[in-house]
Amino acid sequence: MPALNYADAPFFLNAGPTALPPRVVAAGSQPMISHRSETFHQLYAELLVKARQILLTQGDLFFLTSSGSGGLEASVSNFIAPGQKVLVASIGNFGDKYRDIAQAAGAEVEYLAFPWGRAIDPQVIADKLRADTRHEIKAVLFTQHETSTGVYNPVEAIAAARGDHPALLLVDAISGLAACPLKTDEWGLDVVVASSQKALMTPPGLALITVSERAWASFQEQGARHYFNLRRYQQSAAKNETPETPAVSLMFAMNEAASMILEQGLDDYIAAHYRHRDAVRAGLKALGLALVADDRCAGGAITSFYLPENIQPAAMLKLIATKYDTVLCGGLGQLSAHSLRFAHVGYVRDMDIVVGLAALELALKEAGYPLTLGNGLAACQEALYAARN
Ligand SMILES: *Cc1c(COP(=O)(O)O)cnc(C)c1O
Repeated sequence: MPALNYADAPFFLNAGPTALPPRVVAAGSQPMISHRSETFHQLYAELLVKARQILLTQGDLFFLTSSGSGGLEASVSNFIAPGQKVLVASIGNFGDKYRDIAQAAGAEVEYLAFPWGRAIDPQVIADKLRADTRHEIKAVLFTQHETSTGVYNPVEAIAAARGDHPALLLVDAISGLAACPLKTDEWGLDVVVASSQKALMTPPGLALITVSERAWASFQEQGARHYFNLRRYQQSAAKNETPETPAVSLMFAMNEAASMILEQGLDDYIAAHYRHRDAVRAGLKALGLALVADDRCAGGAITSFYLPENIQPAAMLKLIATKYDTVLCGGLGQLSAHSLRFAHVGYVRDMDIVVGLAALELALKEAGYPLTLGNGLAACQEALYAARN
């Protein structure tokens, strides 16, 4: 039987699903209500107001009962017809996943790969779109924060690179929403996808998707099919409902988590993620470990780092979890054989960072890596101290 509350669980620095605040656990455990009741209408309306404040949009925003990937699939199937051309800019594993989703939906994908650990160069996007004088490119697809490398893409500059080309901007903000900057309306993002289980501190299973007026103008009734047809969500939203049975408990939970974020202030919550990024990076560097993300583009959600050559990631993760009660994450894709990820996304306090680094130091020492215990911690604590005093 797994531990039932967070206090009993190991120190949980997972990239998603992330740790749950007790307030959120309690909110998600309320007795069930009908999804056609007045109480639900109120819940829907409240959550919508808060979600709009986190996504910074006044436009359409829908709740889908699915993991984040369902939202990504909806972002393509509702607005891109089979055979239409899209540009997919990828800097890692999840950018590649967005490409796969677009291909599966029948889009003609032009794939632009940038080196892992670096961000998208907005100038390359600008050049591609300027060269497309016949406006054959219907959308540009990219991740806000790439969870395999920990890189934050310059979303604002990429959006500006569109110029007056009519292409839609479809953004995977699943791991970066509320951990890194994102301004849906101000930056003119057409479809933004997020999900419950990362910085939103809610159990997995609920996706969020925004839709701009420009995106609606390209709506594809046939491709949208039935369950993920966003027109149906728009019609139900007029009654503060979803077309099918929603994940009511997850909506209760997210309503509470969104309150926590807004009580703290969205900017402050994001700033805490960046404080943790800085503390983790300082600690890992002091231990002599190489980081995947370049300093200039490292994001607030996770830090990916290389292990010394003779140390196996799987053995390290197991040692850290079983002996030191701490959950870190494995690397993804081409990074999986020689790296780990230290997640600092969601419900993470300064002391969680300290514990995670302490556990890593102990496990590295046990694996034979030459280090002086406390060296990484000292750098990490100095960074936290400097940020808070
Ligand atoms: C976690 C993640 C996904 C996948 O989300 P699921 O909820 O597992 O479908 C997609 N993109 C990014 C950037 C992610 O971090």
